[in-house]
Parts: sequence; C-alpha cells; structure tokens
Amino acid sequence: MKLILLGAPGSGKGTVSDALASEFKLKHISTGEICREEMAKNTAFGTEIKQYMDQGRLVPDELMIKAVDSTITGKEDYILDGFPRTIPQAEAIEKQKIDAVINLDVPEAEIIKRLSGRRMCSKCNAGYHINYFKPKKEGICDKCGSKLIQRPDDTPKIISKRFKDYNTKTKPLVEYYQKKKLLHTVDAAPPPEVVRKSVIGLVGKLNKK
Ligand code: AMP
Repeated sequence: MKLILLGAPGSGKGTVSDALASEFKLKHISTGEICREEMAKNTAFGTEIKQYMDQGRLVPDELMIKAVDSTITGKEDYILDGFPRTIPQAEAIEKQKIDAVINLDVPEAEIIKRLSGRRMCSKCNAGYHINYFKPKKEGICDKCGSKLIQRPDDTPKIISKRFKDYNTKTKPLVEYYQKKKLLHTVDAAPPPEVVRKSVIGLVGKLNKK
C-alpha cells in the first residue's frame, strides 16, 4: 500500500503515521524529519533549507521533490507524512500510483493548543505534550533520558506563518485528491488513541479491497 497523510501542522500526522507504519508494515517517510536530520548533519541540502525551516516556510518544491525522489525506490510500501504539501509536489508523484490519501481534520483552535504545548526529545526525536502526553519526569525524555525541547517552528509567530502556508498551498490538495476519488477524511480532533483506532480501521478496510 502507498498512502499519503494530509493535515495541518499539528493535526497528528507523525503519531498516526507511526501507528500505520507499524500496523501495516509500511516505510514511514516524513519529509519534516528528513529536513530536520539534514539540517542537524549540516549537509548541503540541510544548509540550503535552513532559512525556510527556521522561518516556518515551505522548502521550495524543486528541492523537496528531489529529496523525496531519492528516498522512494518505487518498490516499497510506504506512508508519506508531510508530502505533498503543494499541487506541484502532488503532480511530481503522480506516477507513484497512490492507493489512498488520508486527511486528518482538526479545528484550527485545537491545533494551536496542540502545537504550542508540543515538545520533542533533543536526541531521539520522541514526541511529547505538556498537557496531553507528559513525560514521567518534566522536561526529560522517557525513552533516552535526554532533555526535551520545543521545536523552533512551534512558537506562536512561526505557527501562524505555517498556517498561512497550509491554508493557501496545502489545503487545495484536499480537493485535488477528492477529484481523484482517493480522499478519506478522518475526524482527528479526539484524543490520539481514538484517532489511531479509527485510522487503523479505515486503512484495514481499504487494504482488503
Ligand atoms: P513537519 O515536520 O511536517 O511539520 O515539517 C516541518 C517543516 O519542514 C515545514 O514547516 C517545512 O519547512 C519543511 N517541510 C516538510 N515537508 C515539506 C514539504 N513537503 N514541502 C515543503 N517544505 C516541507
């Protein structure tokens, strides 16, 4: 199965992708994760995209498309998390024969609450939330004991920029995939465990078809 996960920043794409990847043995391809890793390693790509990432802006299409092209072999089953984010990106993977696109639907007010409380491990990237998913010891990762940090693009000013980009550039993909009859929208406002179950149920049904 080749799946795409659509949703605003903070709609839970990372958590849902992890769940689907382990349940259905899919490769989890997160373009946000690829970008953050390349920046941490100071590669040429990482240096080029830093200015966009730091400002919460989308990385230019041609750079992102190249990075995804070199990650996907075309043979594996995968879940694409955070890609495509624009119509040109969607057109670039047209040849991939995507089976389904899952759209995580969450009201904007709820998303802002989620994003501003989000924390991640500075070492292993595990995700937490100051209200909804607290670590056992405040500010410390349960998995590896390292310090938790706030993603630099999860601050209020950057969050509002990311939303603007989402509304103008990414939201049109909902209609794009609706027209192709690939779109399945899931109410992602409930707690993560509930969303996880409904998405796994949905993909399980699609997998049997
Ligand atoms: P994410 O972790 O998916 O929220 O992505 C974090 C940041 O990575 C975004 O705000 C963009 O700067 C960049 N990014 C990730 N995926 C893409 C993409 N498909 N197109 C452009 N920029 C992206």
